[in-house]
Amino acid sequence: MSEHHRVAIVTGAARGIGAATALRLARDGRAVAVLDLDEAAAKASADAVTAEGGTAIAVAADVSDAGAVQAAVDRVAAELGPPTVLVNNAGITRDNLLFRMSEQDWDSVMGVHLKGAFLMSRAAQRHMVDAGWGRIVTVSSTSALGKRGQANYAAAKAGLQGFTKTLAFELGRFGITANCVAPGFVVTEMTRATAERIGTPWEDYLQQRADAIPVRRAGAGEDIAHAVSFLTDERSGFVSGQVLYVAGGPHT
Ligand code: NAP
Repeated sequence: MSEHHRVAIVTGAARGIGAATALRLARDGRAVAVLDLDEAAAKASADAVTAEGGTAIAVAADVSDAGAVQAAVDRVAAELGPPTVLVNNAGITRDNLLFRMSEQDWDSVMGVHLKGAFLMSRAAQRHMVDAGWGRIVTVSSTSALGKRGQANYAAAKAGLQGFTKTLAFELGRFGITANCVAPGFVVTEMTRATAERIGTPWEDYLQQRADAIPVRRAGAGEDIAHAVSFLTDERSGFVSGQVLYVAGGPHT
């Protein structure tokens, strides 16, 4: 693997899908910057990588803050080398039916998902262009197809697909691919919080959701990490502008 190809940034990697992805990319041979809001939580994910012999650093940043993003990307470049793999994974939900959705619910979801992916991609692409190689994977969702109670989140996740296809057009000539992974139901703190919010005991919620998935199980962070690993692989350079649904079926 070329020296230029080895540094990855995974946002929102303190836990859940991001933590599993950071570990997987490290196992693929990448040095990984575990970026998250909380440095102590990010450090726990980075420690999981170093405990098995990988290279990782924890970087605290809010992806919706332009100054923090630039400082974080600069720090990664200085400490690990130019980041040429970026996984835009950080995300939040602020679910509510439209008539109850506040402007704050709307703005914060747009800020983390859409603006966050924009700021991170803009800051990282310079290193990828310089290297003549790069991989950007952005985590969308089956909710991009529409989901009750998620007008903000669905709009953001659908927006990320348009954003990604545009990056594929603009950056392809520099050896950079841009793709989305769109997970279905994955067991993380995000989905546990959803069960709590709607007042359904976790085990019941998990069973209901799994029963509705063609492969009859919920997803794990590793399922999504595996798709990210494929899209960031050296050999995946002819796959760009795609949305890979990883949902145990075509529409869950
Ligand atoms: P999670 O367990 O809630 O983890 C998300 C991580 O992102 C948290 O560590 C969180 O930090 C961090 N984060 C939130 N806002 C941030 C910000 N502004 N800057 C930096 N980091 C931030 O969620 P997950 O389920 O792993 O979700 C990961 C991604 O997959 C998200 O984009 C989500 O929308 C998407 N997704 C998840 C599912 C699912 O079923 N779980 C399905 C489809 C798509 P804090 O803990 O400090 O807030």
